[in-house]
Amino acid sequence: MEISTLAKAVLRGERRALARAITLAESGRADHRAQATELLEALGQSGRQAIRIGLSGTPGVGKSTFIESFGLMLIDQGLRVAVLAVDPSSKRTGGSILGDKTRMDHLSRAPEAFIRPSPSQSHLGGVARRTRDAVALCEAAGFDVVLVETVGVGQSETVVADLSDVFLLLLAPAGGDELQGVKRGIMEAADMIVVNKADGDLKATATRTCADYSGALRLLRKRPEDPEGFPKAMTVSALENNGLPGVWDEIMALVDWRRAHGHWDRRRAEQARRWFEEELRETVLARLQTPEARQMGANLGAQVEAGQIAPARAAQTMLAAIWPEIADTPES
Ligand code: GDP
Repeated sequence: MEISTLAKAVLRGERRALARAITLAESGRADHRAQATELLEALGQSGRQAIRIGLSGTPGVGKSTFIESFGLMLIDQGLRVAVLAVDPSSKRTGGSILGDKTRMDHLSRAPEAFIRPSPSQSHLGGVARRTRDAVALCEAAGFDVVLVETVGVGQSETVVADLSDVFLLLLAPAGGDELQGVKRGIMEAADMIVVNKADGDLKATATRTCADYSGALRLLRKRPEDPEGFPKAMTVSALENNGLPGVWDEIMALVDWRRAHGHWDRRRAEQARRWFEEELRETVLARLQTPEARQMGANLGAQVEAGQIAPARAAQTMLAAIWPEIADTPES
C-alpha cells in the first residue's frame, strides 16, 4: 500500500490501518522504518493531540483491571481510547504484558478502543522508540486518550513517564514499610499515585497507604508544572469501579492547568528534543552492533588487552572503519 493511502486511512481512524502502521514502525527492517518515518511525517500535520496517560505498577497491582474499567468509563463519555504497552522483558517467544487480550476483555471488544501489546524486543531503547511512534500514530488516528502501560521494573517507568503527558503510579494497599520500596525517581515522576483495591477488607489499609503517600509526596520539591495540590494520592477500586471518575477529573484539572500555563506545550517540546537525542544515540549504537562491527570490536578489544594497541587508537580505528567520512575529523 502507498504510504499516502495508509496515511489517509490512519487519519480516518481505521483501526486496521493503524495496526498496520504500528507494525511498520515496530519492524526491525530498515525499509520499514524508512516508510514509518515517511508516514509519521505525512501525519505530522494532523495537529491532533491525545491526552497521553502513562500507567506504571508492579504485576498484580491491578493495571489491566484499572485500564479496563477506566477505558470503558472514558468510552461511555464518548471518547476513543488507545492502550499501548511498554514491556522490556517481553521476548519474541515470551508473552508480553498485554499479549493476553483476555486481560481486557470488554475493552478490547469495544469499537472505540484500540489495544496493542508491547513490541517484542528485549532492548528497552528499541521498545521506547517504537512505542513513541505508536503513540504518535494513535494521536493521528484521532484517539482522545492514549494509555501507555508498563510493569514497574527497571527503567521502563522512566521511558513511559517521558512519553506521557500525565504519569500515574498504581500501587496496592500495603504496610508502611512498603513506602520505601518505591524508588524516589518514580515518585518524582508521578503526577498521581493511585492506590488500588480500596474495597472490602483492604479498604482501611488502602486509605492508610494513600495517606502515607500523600505525606511522602508533600515532602517532594514543588515542580513548576504543577498546580496546588499536585502530585496527589487517591484511592480507587478498579474491580468495583469506584473512584475512577475522580481520577479522570483530577487528570483533566491537571491537563487544563498545564495547558493554560504553557507547561503542556513546553513538556511536549522538551520530550521531542530528548527523543531526537535518543534517536541519534540509538542509531549510532546500532551501527556498533552489526556482526561486522562486533567482530572488529572483539578483535581490537583483544589487541588492547594484549597491550598491542592503545585504547584511543583502537577506538579511532574502529570508528574510522564504520564512518570513513569522519575518520579525518580533527578532534575538538
Ligand atoms: P496487573 O498485573 O497489574 O495487570 O493486575 P491485574 O489487573 O491482572 O489484577 C491482579 C489481581 O488483582 C486480579 O486477581 C484482580 O482481580 C485483582 N484486582 C485488580 N483490581 C482490584 C481491585 O480494585 N480490588 C480488588 N480487591 N482486587 C483487584
